[in-house]
Amino acid sequence: MVNPPAKLICLDCDSTLSAIEGVDELARLRGPAVLAQVAAMTNDAMDGKIPLEQVFARRLEIIRPGRAETEAVGQLYIKDIEPTARATVAALKAAGWTPVIVSAGYTQAIEPLAKLLGIARIEAVRLNFDAKGNYAGFDTAHPATRKGGKPEIVRALKREFQATRSVAVGDGVSDLETKGEVDLFVGFGRYAERAKVKAGAHAFIHSLAELISLLK
Ligand SMILES: [Mg+2]
Repeated sequence: MVNPPAKLICLDCDSTLSAIEGVDELARLRGPAVLAQVAAMTNDAMDGKIPLEQVFARRLEIIRPGRAETEAVGQLYIKDIEPTARATVAALKAAGWTPVIVSAGYTQAIEPLAKLLGIARIEAVRLNFDAKGNYAGFDTAHPATRKGGKPEIVRALKREFQATRSVAVGDGVSDLETKGEVDLFVGFGRYAERAKVKAGAHAFIHSLAELISLLK
């Protein structure tokens, strides 16, 4: 597949395009003890205290989310969408940017939000379900499941889209890891303000609408 040269913007999903952390919402279905355990793992990984690969499989083994539960979280992403996300993505597209969601979340949960935002491409982790819709593992080969995965994805996207400019936006340390791959890394602090991300980012914003003037 050969694309014409494009300006690429890689957007994180959880705590960026939407207020929620999808994995935490799935954990919530298993009760408060499981939620507390999973949320602590997610937060430590996003703060960079533990490598993502250490929690990725473990969280899913604890929760074992089914198809219907995963789809329900898809509706939560939409319900808690960042209030300026829709208009911002539309404005960026009109200005010639190609938006891609780059997420360590679950593809099937993110798809409805991506569709709403008019984002055609998602780089996230596909869950597997059996014929009855029960959890049956995940795409263990996907780079987003491990530390250093997002830069690898951004590198590949830049090649694929022949990026003339590249930008990444996100709240987590895994997003900050892409800084060396992009012309501009924008930290996002509306839902989670992480000191390490704020200190390392080229710019730090609290509303996605701020991207429009930032990327002029
Ligand atoms: Mg995030």
